[in-house]
Amino acid sequence: MSVSPPAVLRRRRPRRLSLRSHSRNRPPQRAAIFTTVKMAICSRMPAIRSALVVTAVWLIASGIYFAFRDDVITRLIDEQMELQVTHEDRIAELRAQIDRIMSQQFLDQEQVKQRVNALLQRQARISLSLDKVEQKQAATLTEVEDHIDTRARQMHTVLADLGINAGRASAEGAPRFVPVKQPADDFERQLYRIDVGRAQIDRYRRTLITVPVRKPVIGEIEMTSQFGRRMHPLLRRLAIHSGIDLRGDLGEPVRATATGKVTIAGRAGGYGNMVEISHGNGLATRYAHLSEISVKIGQVVRIGEVIGRIGSTGRATGPHLHYETRINGEAVDPQKFLRAGSTLGDV
Ligand SMILES: [Zn+2]
Repeated sequence: MSVSPPAVLRRRRPRRLSLRSHSRNRPPQRAAIFTTVKMAICSRMPAIRSALVVTAVWLIASGIYFAFRDDVITRLIDEQMELQVTHEDRIAELRAQIDRIMSQQFLDQEQVKQRVNALLQRQARISLSLDKVEQKQAATLTEVEDHIDTRARQMHTVLADLGINAGRASAEGAPRFVPVKQPADDFERQLYRIDVGRAQIDRYRRTLITVPVRKPVIGEIEMTSQFGRRMHPLLRRLAIHSGIDLRGDLGEPVRATATGKVTIAGRAGGYGNMVEISHGNGLATRYAHLSEISVKIGQVVRIGEVIGRIGSTGRATGPHLHYETRINGEAVDPQKFLRAGSTLGDV
């Protein structure tokens, strides 16, 4: 059995809707809704437009992105690789630089070590050299001290043999005073002894200035008559010869054999023209038969000063110098003094 539609539905056959009929037939509510929707759409148009623009931009950007994505990635990778290579090169360069610096530092350290070693060796050599210098210095000082000591003893002995008081000098050549403070160092003590010895020699020298130990004429002397008993050439009998006769040419200069003061300067009997010089400490010298006298009584004469000239005045057979040395007025052999002068050398 077929079922037939309800009567209402059958009657209401579907009608073709047209806009005109719709608008003509639509109910007022639906129109209101339509109006409301239309107004809402119109009010939101800017937002929708913006959204559409954004969407379009996004689509374009996406398209561009997907279109150029591979190129960008490739380029980025290339840039990354290039950067990496650059960094690796830079790192290699820095490592090489560090290696160079380390090598340089090593070389510098080696050089410093070598220099330090060289300095140490040099210091050792200098120290050794200083030791040698010190030894040499000590040896030289000892030699000087020995020389001064020998010289002081010699001068003292010569003066003692001549019967001359050597002043403040003691027999051993040591000083009579004791210094306030003795040097503590060996070197200083040696220097001190040398100073004492030199001072002693200076005192002897000052004493010897007034001791007639030098020759009255320059050059080698030739003695024609000695001191003492002899047959007088003119008197033809034994007589005491109070001096020595020295050969010389007429007019040859005669010189003072020590510093002193002239006590006689003129004619003196058989002496002829004579000069007598007092040297102090009882010492005196006489120069006789002079052809010329160059000094006056009271005059102070120095060692080697010309006092007159060789002649043959007085009792003389020919030009020669009669030379005397006297101690406290008593004639003594001048050769004793001349030998002393020869022993002492240049004083
Ligand atoms: Zn004589």
